[in-house]
Amino acid sequence: MEKIVSLARRRGFVFPSSEIYGGLGSAYDYGHYGVLMKENVKARWLEAMVRERDDIVALDSSIILHPRVWEVSGHVEGFTDPLVDCRTCKLRFRADQLDQAQCGRKPSKRPGETPECDLTDPRHFNLMFSTRIGAVEETGLDAYLRPETAQGIFVNFKNVAQIARRKPPFGIAQVGKAFRNEITPGNFIFRTLEFEQMEMEFFVPPAEAEEWFRFWVEERVAWHVRFGVRRDRLRVRAHEADELSHYSTMTSDIEYRFPMGWSELEGIAYRGDYDLRVHSEASGTRLEWVDGESNERYIPHVVEPALGVNRSLLTFLIDAYDEEVVADRPRTVLRLHPQIAPVKVAVLPLIPRNADIAGKARALYEDLRRAVVAEYDDSGQIGRRYRRQDEIGTPWALTIDEQTLEDDTVTIRDRDSLAQERIPIAGARAFVQDRLAQDWTTPKPD
Ligand code: ATP
Repeated sequence: MEKIVSLARRRGFVFPSSEIYGGLGSAYDYGHYGVLMKENVKARWLEAMVRERDDIVALDSSIILHPRVWEVSGHVEGFTDPLVDCRTCKLRFRADQLDQAQCGRKPSKRPGETPECDLTDPRHFNLMFSTRIGAVEETGLDAYLRPETAQGIFVNFKNVAQIARRKPPFGIAQVGKAFRNEITPGNFIFRTLEFEQMEMEFFVPPAEAEEWFRFWVEERVAWHVRFGVRRDRLRVRAHEADELSHYSTMTSDIEYRFPMGWSELEGIAYRGDYDLRVHSEASGTRLEWVDGESNERYIPHVVEPALGVNRSLLTFLIDAYDEEVVADRPRTVLRLHPQIAPVKVAVLPLIPRNADIAGKARALYEDLRRAVVAEYDDSGQIGRRYRRQDEIGTPWALTIDEQTLEDDTVTIRDRDSLAQERIPIAGARAFVQDRLAQDWTTPKPD
């Protein structure tokens, strides 16, 4: 993980937040390449959910919802972690993760491992951040920053179902920020206070719920593989009864083999009719499906795939990271799926001082950037420029040299195979677009 953290920082993907004030352990800021890559992750998810299917529509609900939403959903009461405090080292740990925690004393031990450890009984700690709406402290309304995007979907069910004229099975997809007062951050961007979620609530006739649950587990595993994650680094793990959330009777995690061990990448939860039912009862608005012809009415059941953008980005970075020796020199390369890679193509004039070469290179770059994210780099030796692009995972580099001036061809270098071929400069844009549209599998062995 240290190598990923260091590359992410060195190349400007992810920085510790508020670093000039010492950082804030569990918050991170995204630099240029991090932003571009996050946008790609979200775009691939939205395409798979909304563009490639006829039965899912998009939504963007508020971060701050009516506080009743969270009371009724059960989050005020039940969205908690069991915590224990150590009276000796004064640290706080998640009771269900003591085996992964480290106690504050040196040499470091697991909490509870030594006779000096003095742990309290577990206490429940709510993970929602609270805030106040209104200018006047006394008359303001207590509110919460949403800890999941899903509730915004449930409370909009009637609006969307009516306007989209959809009949179950159909889904509503949303991408947006969520906030959790996590007390066990660490592992870089795996678990942070603030993150982005991609959640889709799929509303189905109750009798079809199990079938759809299985469908979505498979579909979501396939999405990670499609965008480059090695299949043998993924596994599906069904939750035990005591792990299930307050709203779920069946949940499976898609786990990835992170450097710290197998951990949840994405969760697929069967939420039954819980959310629509409790919001119907509490609000008086019937959140149900009414068949126009038969007049049959029922509350649809919900299957929910929920994935963190940041955790997905971390997984892609880890899975793509590679080191090798080429011509006696070490090379670090991110073998990212081209559709996930922040930059698609780099334009490198071999001799930047040569005005004709620079002019051709600049014109090619201007042409490419209208179609894809492209980068122009004319500083330093060509080998160093290639290495820079390898480290940010740019799949193709185009080099303009003296031969270009003679025959209008450029060299295209492939990040993974390092193969170089000459292609006409006029076909460069189509070449990149064509390759981008093709299926891709990682060259990394399992
Ligand atoms: P955990 O048990 O790890 O706390 P969870 O089961 O509560 O997670 P869900 O509520 O299922 O997580 O959230 C759905 C997805 O959102 C997770 O699979 C993960 O990808 C992402 N996620 C959840 N919490 C965080 C966080 N604090 N930081 C980053 N991503 C998160």
